[in-house]
Amino acid sequence: MMKFSTFVKNETNKSLEQLSDKETYIQLLNYVKTLSADKPKNTGKRKVYYISAEFLIGKLLSNNLINLGVYQDIKTELESAGKSLSHIEDIEPEPSLGNGGLGRLASCFIDSMSTLGLNAEGVGLNYHYGLFKQVFKKNEQHAEPNDWIEDNSWLIPTDISYEVPFKKFTLTSKLDRIDILGYKKDTKNYLNLFDIKSVNSKLIKKGIEFDKTAIEENLTLFLYPDDSDKNGELLRIYQQYFMVSNAAQLLIDEAIASGSNLHDLADYAYVQINDTHPSMVIPELIRLLTEKHQIKFAEAVEIVRNMVGYTNHTILAEALEKWPLDYLDEVVPHLVVIIKKLDELVHAEYQDPAVQIIDKQKRVHMAYMDIHFSNSVNGVAALHTEILKNSELKAFYALYPEKFNNKTNGITFRRWLEFSNQPLAAYIKELIGDEYLHDATKLEKLLAFKDDKKVHQQLAKIKFENKLALKTYLKENKGIELDENSIIDTQIKRFHEYKRQQMNALYVIHKYLEIKAGKLPKRKITVIFGGKAAPAYVIAQDIIHLILCLSELINNDPKVNKYLNVHLVENYNVSVAEKLIPATDISEQISLASKEASGTGNMKFMLNGALTLGTMDGANVEIAELAGAENIYTFGKDSESIIKLYETSGYVSKEYYENDKDIKRTVDFILNPAMVKLGNKTRLERLYNELLNKDWFMTLIDFNAYVEAKEQILADYEDQDSWNEKVVHNIAKAGFFSSDRTIAQYNADIWHCEG
Ligand SMILES: *Cc1c(COP(=O)(O)O)cnc(C)c1O
Repeated sequence: MMKFSTFVKNETNKSLEQLSDKETYIQLLNYVKTLSADKPKNTGKRKVYYISAEFLIGKLLSNNLINLGVYQDIKTELESAGKSLSHIEDIEPEPSLGNGGLGRLASCFIDSMSTLGLNAEGVGLNYHYGLFKQVFKKNEQHAEPNDWIEDNSWLIPTDISYEVPFKKFTLTSKLDRIDILGYKKDTKNYLNLFDIKSVNSKLIKKGIEFDKTAIEENLTLFLYPDDSDKNGELLRIYQQYFMVSNAAQLLIDEAIASGSNLHDLADYAYVQINDTHPSMVIPELIRLLTEKHQIKFAEAVEIVRNMVGYTNHTILAEALEKWPLDYLDEVVPHLVVIIKKLDELVHAEYQDPAVQIIDKQKRVHMAYMDIHFSNSVNGVAALHTEILKNSELKAFYALYPEKFNNKTNGITFRRWLEFSNQPLAAYIKELIGDEYLHDATKLEKLLAFKDDKKVHQQLAKIKFENKLALKTYLKENKGIELDENSIIDTQIKRFHEYKRQQMNALYVIHKYLEIKAGKLPKRKITVIFGGKAAPAYVIAQDIIHLILCLSELINNDPKVNKYLNVHLVENYNVSVAEKLIPATDISEQISLASKEASGTGNMKFMLNGALTLGTMDGANVEIAELAGAENIYTFGKDSESIIKLYETSGYVSKEYYENDKDIKRTVDFILNPAMVKLGNKTRLERLYNELLNKDWFMTLIDFNAYVEAKEQILADYEDQDSWNEKVVHNIAKAGFFSSDRTIAQYNADIWHCEG
């Protein structure tokens, strides 16, 4: 392999020392692209197409250097030229192609698919302004376009292009690709990102407002454009159909090129539908097979059924997509014909109205279409899959028990340990070698050191080092002063009521009031939040507002700020997560039981030696099983009780408020004059009233249990030996959550492609 400095000399006729950091970054990008261009693609008869509206890939430079096995060499080479790799990493803009856990999962998955050498690729859209950039002004969230694509980028243009027909016009696509390298693998896969040819950024007005009707110029401007009005919903349909029609055409072309006669298409291709955004791929494949390739409808249905699997990511009813048939008719009438035929097939077979694709209000239930016309339906954590089978999708489980299976989510340890926590990764290698990078369960060897005081001290030292690194990062990039000597308690994830950031905020108020009353904590606590709220989700914005007001109040109160700090980190993304997680002591995973399908943030924290404070929800249940009940702090009502409460409408938040003095004064503080002075009264009042009169996600039901569990975890932190013994248990048992394991299971049970 050519040395980087030699590459630089050849390309620029300059020495490495002569380049600026920006020039060095561009040369490194080109160096990696050159190395990966030489790698052959994975092969195999059946190819997997993982279609997803989002890929939250994070920066790629460091990850690619690690997967190429040259990270340390490049670091050393740059150091001897007086440069710092971490400064150069900072220059890379983070791609803005994803939103949250689902997109991050897709990204960990494509990393693992390449690492396992599977013939499996991602397919999505290339959003030019991606998900919005979050900016705080006057303690409120503002959304700005995220212009992330630079002249030099990881995108590799191709001349692949398709015609995508809509009712009113036909759009020509173009395909850009990103090479996805596996860890120390000779082969690669692609992330396929389809785009339109004439994106017009001039359509963007104030913030992220834009003309939603100019489809031919706006289709790939933004990920998840505002869909609170009809034009927004129509645009989402345009985006989804554009994505899947391109995917279907690509897949058919590639299968034919590999020798398929299309009657045997299922031997050549498998489509994994990541949540319902790509569901229209089912009717689109049937349409193409019948209309373009003369296959009979009944046969096409069977072909497609044998090559499609659906992953469910949520049981929140409001998040399950249901498109009005009228809207589909306005955009893709040729697909409506197929969807109606599929609906008739279901009608002919089953009478139960609960399983029909098109309901009485003429809405198309995308998930239901997926379940009927795929061969696999999977949940993303053990508890989640059980809830799907026993309540949310019970009627479907009765029809197709054989289709239902669980694939507990995972994360790539290359990014979430090897890269993001280099001191810990180095220490683990010192203790148990580096086998864990290929077989993550080898981390269990760490259990041999669980009582070793030297190991405890070293782990504490590494945590402190990471806190110092975070302190520098937050100061330079986010205008935040972090106290590295405080205990760091972190909740980072999309803002949503079911995730209950508001419960954590109420804890902050509770603690603030205690400190004001003279009850001082043993050690300073820093509560860190990070996350974006959907621009149309008003209550989530109000929760952000509450936290920003609390942050201003508390951090500026000299009586309190010695004991308690609160920060909400602006524009939470993968790069921010990579800094926060290694420095965290307490991982907040406090969703209302039954509502978080899996979570993957919880896994990242576990791997990085933070202890979980969480409800028995999603993958927290498996974390508790693996790490042992004594090594995780769980609290709150279990999922069965919560599901029952919803069924009986048995939760009344006002009763909790009226019957508990501490809850009352904590909630009342939202409208304290000191808060109203810092904030927007309308927002604070709305949130207060929401908590009192609705509180759909039952914040108050677990509040006391939460406070108690938090006091326990804070107290336990003071015994550092016992704390770090728990830390060892958590890291040692985190191997199960490697996405390599998840992907191996998808392949063994669903995809069956050779690797
Ligand atoms: C892991 C990750 C998520 C998912 O976090 P959850 O806690 O599982 O919701 C969201 N955003 C980013 C940037 C992540 O890295």
